[in-house]
Amino acid sequence: MRLLLVEDDTMIGEAVLQVLRGENYAVDWVRDGVMADEALRTEQYDLVLLDLGLPKRDGLEVLRGLRSRRNPVPVLIATARDAVGNRIAGLDAGADDYVVKPYDTDELLARIRALLRRAAGRAEPVFEYKGISLNPATHEATVGGQPVSLSAREWAVLEPLLVRPGAVLSRAQLEEKLFSWKDDISSNAVEVYIHGVRKKLGNDLIQTVRGLGYLVPKE
Ligand code: CA
Repeated sequence: MRLLLVEDDTMIGEAVLQVLRGENYAVDWVRDGVMADEALRTEQYDLVLLDLGLPKRDGLEVLRGLRSRRNPVPVLIATARDAVGNRIAGLDAGADDYVVKPYDTDELLARIRALLRRAAGRAEPVFEYKGISLNPATHEATVGGQPVSLSAREWAVLEPLLVRPGAVLSRAQLEEKLFSWKDDISSNAVEVYIHGVRKKLGNDLIQTVRGLGYLVPKE
């Protein structure tokens, strides 16, 4: 899944970036409100982690602009612990949830998972599909009750397909969810990871739609 991190503090930004990438999210990081606006107008994200106090353009302004363009991307705002007024203003401006700084890393990741789940129209934390069970929080996968070990990248290519069964994602769309701006993309990476998933979870889960891309069929 592809995330936009908007954070002007270098130390915090680098720390959060590391945590998010460690969870296999593809993350783009911008450090001011104008860059955030630009990224949100040109790229498609699954979630935005938005600091409110930003140079050049305030986080609230970025958020209002985003919602006025009817962009429904889930937004998690970050505020100081005592900034209740900011949190209320942020939620009323279209944010979906908030986290307080300094971050509790586990809480941050749990809130991100919850928002991604809700954005996909799900409430259940574990994916269940035809005998296959996948838990994004623990990265545990089982087939017919037997544990299977997926690599980080295999997991990352499978998750966007799994959250919306029946929806086709092209190779380019999957690449966007796997890699952020700075990563080097090898041309057949998506195919390689999908091949790996099929070997471990069976050939039926990820289907190729010729000329269009891939899908996980509806049950
Ligand atoms: Ca800030």
